[in-house]
Amino acid sequence: MRPTFATVSLEAIASNYRLAKSLAPASKSIAVIKANAYGHGMVKVARHLQDMVPAFAVAFIDEAVQLRDAGINKPILVLQGVHRAADLAEVVAKDLWLMLNQQQQIEWVLSARLAGPVRAWLKLDTGMHRLGISPEKLDQACEDLGSSVNVQPGLVLCTHLACADDLKSSMTRQQVGLIRSSTAKYNFELSIANSAAILHWPEAHAGWNRPGYMLYGSCPTGSFDNVAAGLQPAMGMYSEIIAIRNLKPGDAVGYGLDWVASKPSKIGTIAIGYGDGYPRHAPSGTPVSVNGQRVPLVGRVSMDAIGVDLSGFEDVKIGDRVELWGKSITVNELASAAGTIGYEILAGLTGRVPIHYRDE
Ligand SMILES: *Cc1c(COP(=O)(O)O)cnc(C)c1O
Repeated sequence: MRPTFATVSLEAIASNYRLAKSLAPASKSIAVIKANAYGHGMVKVARHLQDMVPAFAVAFIDEAVQLRDAGINKPILVLQGVHRAADLAEVVAKDLWLMLNQQQQIEWVLSARLAGPVRAWLKLDTGMHRLGISPEKLDQACEDLGSSVNVQPGLVLCTHLACADDLKSSMTRQQVGLIRSSTAKYNFELSIANSAAILHWPEAHAGWNRPGYMLYGSCPTGSFDNVAAGLQPAMGMYSEIIAIRNLKPGDAVGYGLDWVASKPSKIGTIAIGYGDGYPRHAPSGTPVSVNGQRVPLVGRVSMDAIGVDLSGFEDVKIGDRVELWGKSITVNELASAAGTIGYEILAGLTGRVPIHYRDE
């Protein structure tokens, strides 16, 4: 009954996926749907995309199991691999693709007794320095995995780019150069590109690309202009004005009374807060769209409510429609105002927000 909800267009996600494919026609594109498909509903998104994608990627086994339980039978790559040797049994049982991110994970596979061989991707650390084996260890790893009965023939060699969203950085070319040179003597497929590299670094396109954020319709560089990039934002976040009051100069708004009216002001209260995933750090001045007009947030974001300054919009009344992000205010614009990235806002949508799927 609360007037706060998100809308998701599954067709927009499909269209963004087609764009990712058309930008890299020689690559296979694995749809990354971790973190509940960046807040959009993992199972719904998987069902909608399954006939057009060769595979999905998630972060953890639990996410992959949830997809299998929902009847998704496409290949699913588990990006973080297993966190304990015992979980390898589940990888085989659910027929998952396994990323190997470090020596320990390789050793678990080599020494396991499995019901069958796994399909493995091997990650190289080409500069991000969190996951992946160093390129000097590649030969040994290929030899060990190649002779193991636990591994299907044919690895995919993979790396993750640290700075692909920074179009001025030289790091992406360095990382692409390093993975290409250190794997040149093998005949294995490569996987390098995330969304930013699909859009901006064609030299990173390889056998398998891994688009995530762009599928949901925003620019991974943080640009507000998804239209120019050909992307359609899939999610809109909506609520309503639930109260309106007139303040005198000197009256203040919200917890801590942080925002003080400097002139007579008309303040609207909206039924959304950080309990829904609206960023608590969004400062006064962050744009909010009321009846299609941009007005500034005033005062601190609380768990269930925010305030906006409606001065000058005399016709706004209780029950009027508010867009927090979507088409008028892109998630990147909101993120930029709140000092974060759109990824965090989308992935931070909380379970109490109902999602209305526009294509059903
Ligand atoms: C999340 C993730 C991706 C997708 O990145 P985007 O920037 O969302 O496109 C690709 N590869 C790996 C290993 C990831 O963890």
